[in-house]
Amino acid sequence: CEQVGVSVSQVIMTLMKLGIVTNINANLDEDTALILSEELGISVVIGAVEEEDIDEGIEDFEDKEEDLVHRPPIITVMGHVDHGKTSLLDAIRATNVTASESGGITQHIGASEVKLNGQKIVFLDTPGHEAFTAMRARGADITDIAVLVVAADDSVKPQTVESISHAKAAGVPIIVAINKMDKPGANPDLVKTDLAEHGVLVEDWGGDVISVPVSAKTGEGIENLLEMILLQAEVLELKANPKRLGLGTVIEARLDKAKGPVATLLVTNGTVKSGQSIVAGNTSGRIRLMTDYKGTTIKKAGPATAVEILGLDDVPSAGDDFHVVKDDKLAREIADKRKQKQREEILARNASSTLEDLFSQIKEGEVKDLNLIVKGDVMGSVGAVVSSLEKLSNDEVRIKIVHSGVGAINESDVTLASTAGAVIIGFNVRPTGNVQSIADRENVQIRTYRVIYNIIDDVENAMKGMLDPEF
Ligand code: GDP
Repeated sequence: CEQVGVSVSQVIMTLMKLGIVTNINANLDEDTALILSEELGISVVIGAVEEEDIDEGIEDFEDKEEDLVHRPPIITVMGHVDHGKTSLLDAIRATNVTASESGGITQHIGASEVKLNGQKIVFLDTPGHEAFTAMRARGADITDIAVLVVAADDSVKPQTVESISHAKAAGVPIIVAINKMDKPGANPDLVKTDLAEHGVLVEDWGGDVISVPVSAKTGEGIENLLEMILLQAEVLELKANPKRLGLGTVIEARLDKAKGPVATLLVTNGTVKSGQSIVAGNTSGRIRLMTDYKGTTIKKAGPATAVEILGLDDVPSAGDDFHVVKDDKLAREIADKRKQKQREEILARNASSTLEDLFSQIKEGEVKDLNLIVKGDVMGSVGAVVSSLEKLSNDEVRIKIVHSGVGAINESDVTLASTAGAVIIGFNVRPTGNVQSIADRENVQIRTYRVIYNIIDDVENAMKGMLDPEF
């Protein structure tokens, strides 16, 4: 609404007058948006910019097998607060500091690279699943392997479980780092048992998840962890084509008073060269200066390299994609078209996952899975809700519980729901703080209940297309 200079209440009043909506959280379809715009005397453009046209000019082809070379793995560290994610990243960096560099390398550009036996590993420096999911929500699946940090003296905790759900939803393999092994209360066996309960079966348990005991404090096991990461990466057969124009994801960006927009790019394919024209999200420019994670000026960067660049005309967002293109003019054109599309999307946004939408999507054959996140006040009730819901799956619709857990509905649930297109079901729990408003912004539906029967009833009815929209 801000975009077109009309207040939310004006919109709602008009819609109520037209008998179209009854509350502020309703979503508009295209027809309604058009009627509304006429009433308000504004113009909306729906679908004017065709998807294919927007990025015209960006190099787009399948890499030929013979051009592909191995590329290093890109890692995100996740886990419960205070289990040692930051310390572990520090310890990993420390194993790699050569004598001449020590003391000098504290520059944080959002990613760091370490080498073991000449093989490179890239770590994203913002630990936690929030950053991971925020990136995924924007379409950036850049993590190859998730390192799940679990403190050996504290075992599996709520954010450990959340991290597992996030990694699984993304289809990213997990390596468990059992941290704080130096502590007297360390109990790695309990960690493994607890992980098994949450579907993470480590090798001792007959599973295929690698677990490594480490101490970020003493450095014990860190090298072994790096070796295991390389081993897992080998299995994944990560490849890229250094011959094509560079592309990848913006992992951090800020406005520097002296330098202007500064962006950290993670090159996932191709090679980026200083002086080239580039589009990053809705911004464009020419790379004036490129530095690596140590702050050294470099001229080119191949696949799985993090670089900081100067030269964009504006600040892109973390999670935006970037592409090197043939010249400045093309870069500017693409960025302009993307800005236009973004404006349209804000106006026409109606794609949401709600139980009400479900049936029409089933009819159109669009939906086969109903993704749900279940939060409850006690473990017993969560288990009961989950198993009753799972039983509802039929030939047309499969109920998929993306995540379940005990506790209030939090921001992490909303970001997961947003990426997974899930509806959040709360049983005797509510959203905390400003979580409801975040959910509204992200078009995520939160439904709270006090009676299990009502949950089952609503989901069943939604599957049959009979859900009372007055809910
Ligand atoms: P994060 O919240 O997961 O990033 O955790 P931090 O890295 O901030 O660590 C939380 C606390 O645990 C800090 O006080 C660390 O010093 C401590 N810590 C982290 N790793 C270890 C470890 O291996 N051994 C011991 N004894 N303490 C650790």
